[in-house]
Amino acid sequence: MATTAAVSEDLLAKYEPVIGLEVHVQLLTASKIFCSCSTRFGDPPNTNVCPVCLGLPGALPVLNRKAVEFAALAAMALECRINHVSIFARKNYFYPDLPKGYQISQYDKPLAEFGFIEIDLNEGKTNESKTSGSKKKIGITRLHLEEDAGKSLHEGFADADAKTAIDLNRTGVPLAEIVSEPDMRSPEEAYEYLTRLKEVILYTGVSDCNMEEGSLRCDANISVRPRGQKEFGTKTEVKNVNSFRFIKQALEYEIERHIGIIEGGGRITQETRLYNAHEGKTHGMRSKEQAHDYRYFPEPDLLPLVVDERWQAAIRAGLPELPEARRRRMMKEYGITAGDAHTLTLTRAMADRFESAARTAKNPKRVANLVQSELLGRLKAQGLELEQSPISMAGVTVSADLVESGAISGKMLKDLYDLCFERNQDFPAVYEEQGRPEQSRDTSALEKLADELIAANPKQVEQYRAGKKTMIGFFVGQVMKASKGQANPQLVNDVLTKKLEG
Ligand SMILES: [Zn+2]
Repeated sequence: MATTAAVSEDLLAKYEPVIGLEVHVQLLTASKIFCSCSTRFGDPPNTNVCPVCLGLPGALPVLNRKAVEFAALAAMALECRINHVSIFARKNYFYPDLPKGYQISQYDKPLAEFGFIEIDLNEGKTNESKTSGSKKKIGITRLHLEEDAGKSLHEGFADADAKTAIDLNRTGVPLAEIVSEPDMRSPEEAYEYLTRLKEVILYTGVSDCNMEEGSLRCDANISVRPRGQKEFGTKTEVKNVNSFRFIKQALEYEIERHIGIIEGGGRITQETRLYNAHEGKTHGMRSKEQAHDYRYFPEPDLLPLVVDERWQAAIRAGLPELPEARRRRMMKEYGITAGDAHTLTLTRAMADRFESAARTAKNPKRVANLVQSELLGRLKAQGLELEQSPISMAGVTVSADLVESGAISGKMLKDLYDLCFERNQDFPAVYEEQGRPEQSRDTSALEKLADELIAANPKQVEQYRAGKKTMIGFFVGQVMKASKGQANPQLVNDVLTKKLEG
């Protein structure tokens, strides 16, 4: 990267990065965690507020049951153990967007602990070179519930150059904070962890994980140590980075910065830093000496949270099949590759659609292939999501069955798909409209071609008749070429076999 201090590959190889991540996920409840105000995003500023979330004296919080269930569901999906009793605590600090002067969070008794996410160390390689043996478990220390703060606005109003405005709509929106163990050893592993984490959370449906709207936020802790050393180096924290790609870049920058300082004889200052995506650099925000002492104590206005066995069982019953398990099952059920399964399970909606199509198709593997090779490429080229595809999964199934039965060739399918995208029409409509373009089933023309070929290639005919049956491929190839791909390969094969055997 051009923006980072130049550290040679040799120096980079001498050190081992140690990375831990803290992710905040906004839970998709209709109302806030301790009051009945709406959590809707984008409403006019300060319209979804009440005495509780404004922190007015005497107002008392009442815990939202749904927020607990969503957080517990996410924790279960992340293989965490749910604590029967967890305690809400006050985290005291002053900030303009925090009207109470404290945030209600959980401290030494969080809702859930001891989970993990399995990441694929092959990620980034091509589907073909993927092996299944290289997985790594990243520990999840804890998942706890807390309330969000409001938002300071620095632009978008009349005297924005002189004043800061506050929007408290977000104050009290429920968050699940997910803290990882310092188990990651490269920015790539951190990126993969976040990708898998987001995927799992999306599958559970408890958050939309929309980073632009701030419903998924990430802070990263990073340090380096000479390879072989057990003790951790001094860490820095990079806060509020708003895309996974930027987190990876910020970590890359920090690793080089740390190594540069250590190699130059300096010491790392433990501090919080902000990443500037335009510059590709981090900047110090506050050092350890300025760090907050939050003076946590149990929240006196809330009882201990008890999630007993029965409630846990009821929540667990709502756990969907998770991506990794789904991939394994789909590979077995439809005979598709790990690469296919990976692409087809990227979102739950996509996997649902694929499966509903695959179940009715003559050959599910062909449906998977068409989605991968013909559909996703065209969608990507036009910047469309799967939901916006002109060709529905049912349409893909129809087309796959037509190829399967030999009614259309692969080449014709490509042309028809192009037409579907041009006209923004589904496959069955375009197929019907094109007058069901049948492949040439006129065997007389084919037979004539076959006779010509056999006459022109006596040597190959002799080889075939002497027992080299693979020579049929040569003849089929020639006929397909002569028909410009329009002939039905199965029919060509039949005609040629009859002639050659005869
Ligand atoms: Zn409220």
